[in-house]
Amino acid sequence: METDTVHVICLGTGTSHGVPMIGCDCAVCTSDDPRNQRTRSSIFIRTGGVNLLFDTATEMRMQVLRHGIRRLDAIFYTHDHADHVQGIDDLRTFTQMQRKPLPVYGPADALEMIRARCPYIFGDPDFRLGFSIPRLELHPLAAGETAQVEDTRVEAIEILHGERPIHAYRIGRFAYLTDCSGVPDRALEQLQGVDTLIIDGLRPKPHRTHFSIGQAIEAAERIGARRTFLTHLTHDVDHAQIEAGLPPHVRLAYDGLELDVPG
Ligand SMILES: [Zn+2]
Ligand SMILES: [Zn+2]
Ligand SMILES: [Zn+2]
Repeated sequence: METDTVHVICLGTGTSHGVPMIGCDCAVCTSDDPRNQRTRSSIFIRTGGVNLLFDTATEMRMQVLRHGIRRLDAIFYTHDHADHVQGIDDLRTFTQMQRKPLPVYGPADALEMIRARCPYIFGDPDFRLGFSIPRLELHPLAAGETAQVEDTRVEAIEILHGERPIHAYRIGRFAYLTDCSGVPDRALEQLQGVDTLIIDGLRPKPHRTHFSIGQAIEAAERIGARRTFLTHLTHDVDHAQIEAGLPPHVRLAYDGLELDVPG
């Protein structure tokens, strides 16, 4: 039910390169503050007795091991960019343990791209016999539609990632807007009453397909959540230094951050 508390774990809060970035000796990449070590962006939600995973990031296996996650009831994709999908193969461990296919929701175009990129998962069933593969059921979800996993409702909200519409998701009074450079009016309506928001705030400098930190703060003001956490952060973001300059109700997310959102 939507009255249940939504427990959120930030599994990964890094941009597509991750932090540290390969080959970089900058102050953030060599920092010993664990909040400056960021795997690719993904969140896990437990609410209403179900476990939901949002994107299968490159480090998905390490992320679920770190948090002792042993069951998943559904996967939600925001879009099909590599950093949000590449961990998909490790879903096979869950579908083997659970002995049934996992429902996978996302925008129709993203699911089609994932299907095309993974013929070993979605191709000819005869070819797949005897191989260990994730058993996934794809369910395209249009913006404005709601998926129901047992009693938990997950609403898809269209946001812009550069020119491209992708999905944000709302569960009760929590919303997750990764890879976002624009929040259309319709999305603002759908986000009314959100208590806790996680939104893309890539880095201080502007970017064509992601909000900068300043733009993310502006969007957070328009959405009006009680508290907002920025994610998908690059190595231009030193956690302590940047967070010190943020308004009190806006914080930086970090890998391992856990939030309880009231129902
Ligand atoms: Zn991304
Ligand atoms: Zn660096
Ligand atoms: Zn992206």
